[in-house]
Amino acid sequence: MTDAERTVLAGARLVLPTGVVENGKIAVENGRITEIAAPVTPPDGTAPALDLTGLTVVPGFVDMHVHGGGGASYHSGTAEQIITAAHTHLAHGTTTTVASTVTGEIDDLCRQAGLLSELVEDGVLAGIHFEGPFISTNRCGAHDPDLLRDPDPAVVRKLLDASRGAARMVTLAPELDGGIESIRLLVERGVIAAIGHTDAGYDTTLAGVAAGATVATHLFNAMPAVGHRTPGPIVALLEDERVTVELIGDGVHLHPSVVDLAFRGAGAERVALVTDAMDAAGFGDGDYMLGPLAVKVREGVARLAEGGSIAGSTLTLDVAFKRAVTINGLPLETVSRMLSLNPARQLGLSDRIGSLEVGKRADLVVLDEQYEVVAVMRDGVWAVGADKLTDRVPVAR
Ligand SMILES: [Zn+2]
Repeated sequence: MTDAERTVLAGARLVLPTGVVENGKIAVENGRITEIAAPVTPPDGTAPALDLTGLTVVPGFVDMHVHGGGGASYHSGTAEQIITAAHTHLAHGTTTTVASTVTGEIDDLCRQAGLLSELVEDGVLAGIHFEGPFISTNRCGAHDPDLLRDPDPAVVRKLLDASRGAARMVTLAPELDGGIESIRLLVERGVIAAIGHTDAGYDTTLAGVAAGATVATHLFNAMPAVGHRTPGPIVALLEDERVTVELIGDGVHLHPSVVDLAFRGAGAERVALVTDAMDAAGFGDGDYMLGPLAVKVREGVARLAEGGSIAGSTLTLDVAFKRAVTINGLPLETVSRMLSLNPARQLGLSDRIGSLEVGKRADLVVLDEQYEVVAVMRDGVWAVGADKLTDRVPVAR
């Protein structure tokens, strides 16, 4: 397909922000959605359409927390490896990626930020998320405790400068020295302040939100549990309407009932499903590194070789979609919102991506009846699955 061509998809179930429509039609031109109609009017013979009867089209997924995939890492990979990781997730429906680093030496993080920022400029990535080193030793999970540090605003500024405008989010623990000040700095610089890997209590968490933090980094994981007299960060982040809560929907990090609780507590507009995936996603079991720490992946579960902490996931967002629909029983438009529109809005990109709407970038995921990916279109071009659609005879619509 050349850019100037018009592609028309017809007959599919469309998951629109306003709800699900059957037998819909989407036209794509020059990388943009130019028409959405439902139900399709009788064939008018104006444009041949690809017949997607029996399939479901959802907007491309937006992953705001992912460390790697396809055997490659955003934290330490070369440009080629970073592209491999992004393409691995793209094949599973992720059309927008914010690349997450883990805790490392500041100079190493600055060097990698420079490389990642080039891939942001090239359109491979949508930004950089620094997860650590400004996090709690008590809640460090799979981050190297020896390299953690307080969020000194001068150091935060150094990371942002090294990112040359590509930094989108920094996860930090607000209770640490400089925590609140750094949240204010991030907001000033247009970067999302995310609260996570924290030992903060309820009040300190709310102070972080009042200072401008708007994301809960993988809510529940790497923070104190809810106590009946010590609600802690989880209750604070769930109840404050300014906060979008990330959930890792892999069935390993969270019990499905806890996911349900968060869905109900935060509501459909404030949940972003993320992968927090490491290199083994879309690749397989084996021995890996997550930053400086050795990780063993067995039966799809990643754990630190030493201590056994869960070390990211091997999740892809198509699986998160399927789980939220089939295990949590949520409506398609709700799940779609949690995977696309909510993270897009949080990232400030919802005017361009995140939903099937005229004028937005043509980022589409075509799913079969079992919610498995058939094809993925990014920026108006089929990234994967075009071959699976060729036996679908174009019809006049
Ligand atoms: Zn984490």
